[in-house]
Amino acid sequence: MEEKTKITRVVSLIRATGRLHIGHYEGVIKNWVELQGKYPSFFGVADWHALTSRYEESKGIAQDTREIIVDLLACGLDPKKSTIFIQSQIKEHAELYLLLSMITPLGWLERNPTYKEQLRELEERGLQTYGLIGYPVLQAADVLAYKGDGVPIGQDQLPHLELTREITRRFNKLYGNLFKEPTPIFTASPKVPGTDGRKMSKSYGNAIYLSDSAGEVEKKVRPMKTDIARITRKDPGNPEVCPVFDLHKIYTPDEPREWCAAGCRTAGIGCIDCKMVLLDHLQPFLEPIREKRKEILKTPKKVDAIIHQGNEKAAEVAAKTLTEVRSAIGV
Ligand code: SF4
Repeated sequence: MEEKTKITRVVSLIRATGRLHIGHYEGVIKNWVELQGKYPSFFGVADWHALTSRYEESKGIAQDTREIIVDLLACGLDPKKSTIFIQSQIKEHAELYLLLSMITPLGWLERNPTYKEQLRELEERGLQTYGLIGYPVLQAADVLAYKGDGVPIGQDQLPHLELTREITRRFNKLYGNLFKEPTPIFTASPKVPGTDGRKMSKSYGNAIYLSDSAGEVEKKVRPMKTDIARITRKDPGNPEVCPVFDLHKIYTPDEPREWCAAGCRTAGIGCIDCKMVLLDHLQPFLEPIREKRKEILKTPKKVDAIIHQGNEKAAEVAAKTLTEVRSAIGV
């Protein structure tokens, strides 16, 4: 579906679920840092989206949002190259969300595979809310408020973007061609398992955070789940089914990685040996981020100023879009 049309503005938001972990970095942030030099870019922290699953514990969201912005800056997001903003500070998202919700058929939202999946997970926690089913409409508003026409996504997120494209087509058909259909910018999102082998996630308690100290990272990696076939040191294993090896594929260069794979298959090394090799390469990757983070935290006023400027710039663009939207609809 990636179109050959020229992309004029990239827009992407990350949900304010807490400090960023290496799964976020590999799947989202690394791509943002690359894209900011190529296109005018708007990158936001979606704190309203966090409320869909955290409305009962909303107090921590503001702090999480700030922590995420510090993480983003530590990872190399540059406020001179991208507009960094907070979703809830730009009220136009809410207005556009409301207007788009008027034209979005319920069936489109009910058949959304992510909604069905989340619903199963969240049923027990009483999260069957209007906000949850309307989530993709807010996502569409997040992009269209800036007339974003390029959205960085992994292949698995294509259904979300398709919904945004459908909503865009419907708006244009009803009220005139105000928006370009956002196109996907397919980005690499390697498999990043958590320490228990499941997908890395704060809610599973299996995440390695960008802000973890070297000691904390080691404490998490040492007991990490491995190929269950390696019951004892003498049992050979298969690196292709081991979560530790998935991390090796991202952080360890070919030669030491192949050494680990061969040692695993022949039971020539133990899992701790293998994990120490991973740490030898994971720690140097995290160290500069940790250091930059510490530097940033020394000047909180600078962070305030970056957020303020980003919000102002985002608000200016979104306000202009909403003026056009109101005029197109005639309200
Ligand atoms: Fe996993 Fe390494 Fe142990 Fe093999 S040796 S099971 S790849 S941790």
